[in-house]
Amino acid sequence: MIPMVDLSKQFAEIKEEIYPMINQIMESSHYILGPKVQEFERRVADYIAVPGAIGVASGTDALHLSIEALNIGDGDEVITTPFTFFATVEAILYTGAKPVFVDIALDTFNLDSDRIEEKITERTKAILPVHLFGHPSDMEKIMEIARRHNLYVIEDCAQAFGAAVGQKKVGSFGDTGCFSFYPSKNLGAYGDGGMITCYDNNLSDRFKRLRNHGSIGSYIHESVGFNSRLDELQAGFLLIKLKRLDEYNRRRRQKASLYRDLLCDAVRCPSERAGVQHVYNQYTIRSENRNEIQSKLKENSISSVVYYPRPLHLQKALKFLGYREGDFPLAERASREVLSLPIYPELEESAIEKIAETIKEVSVRV
Ligand SMILES: *Cc1c(COP(=O)(O)O)cnc(C)c1O
Repeated sequence: MIPMVDLSKQFAEIKEEIYPMINQIMESSHYILGPKVQEFERRVADYIAVPGAIGVASGTDALHLSIEALNIGDGDEVITTPFTFFATVEAILYTGAKPVFVDIALDTFNLDSDRIEEKITERTKAILPVHLFGHPSDMEKIMEIARRHNLYVIEDCAQAFGAAVGQKKVGSFGDTGCFSFYPSKNLGAYGDGGMITCYDNNLSDRFKRLRNHGSIGSYIHESVGFNSRLDELQAGFLLIKLKRLDEYNRRRRQKASLYRDLLCDAVRCPSERAGVQHVYNQYTIRSENRNEIQSKLKENSISSVVYYPRPLHLQKALKFLGYREGDFPLAERASREVLSLPIYPELEESAIEKIAETIKEVSVRV
């Protein structure tokens, strides 16, 4: 059996540090917004190279609070991709704003920056690119469009901790960067967690109030906020993992490169645009024989997952937005052709060889 991810192997490597961390935090009796959260926020700010990093309860909340803090809501429009995890769009809808979709570029599965401008109206307030599967969106172009039209940029970095364009990390381009520490993400906790990165100190303060019931001190409330804090234990675990993140990402890239060598004649391997650092939260191939490949893998006890089988504009929950089949042909095609294969830092080369051989038994070149 080859699983999609195996978090137990990673835990085995670091448990010598995890258990003392648990003891230390338990005995400190400081469980919410304590020193570990502060230290982790500082470390993330340094790592991403931004002044502000604010821990929150999840990646979804990081997106939601970003949109909220930028005063985007009823009657406003936010441009985003229809090929992403549902949470990206839920966060927009929580605020009363309307998601406006733009089709993707098939080579990266990210928002096609050449099609953004045709969707900008006087109600557009922000662009929300997603660095899907760990490949950075076309940030230089997106920032240029945003500047020209005076729009905010909110980056969904949930799948891309450590990804970069040149030396510049994702989460340091837009007004805010939104990270998730869901266990299977590149930097994963042992529970839920999230982080918002930003430049503006006022915005930073706003996030600190919003995550804690709009409070500016003990029981003094300046606005109506939320209960959305990063847990002290999770921050402790994440401090241990952040030290190793570059190594984890290096190993993911190494696995991806082996997959590419073995598979590029048989299926479409994920591309890496020039100058970008892809961190392969997923290794996602494309083939017209996708379903056949997936069955064959299953027969051989190899896991694989379709991220995502239905683009968001065709989801029942979003029917009220009024989109129809055919509106975003590349996102629809991606949904029919993608397949994500097992990838994680501890995955063995022999497993990748077995996966590639199995795929090659069925596929023809797309
Ligand atoms: C995981 C994910 C989220 C949500 O993060 P949670 O921490 O699970 O709330 C948002 N966007 C994308 C693209 C994701 O992959």
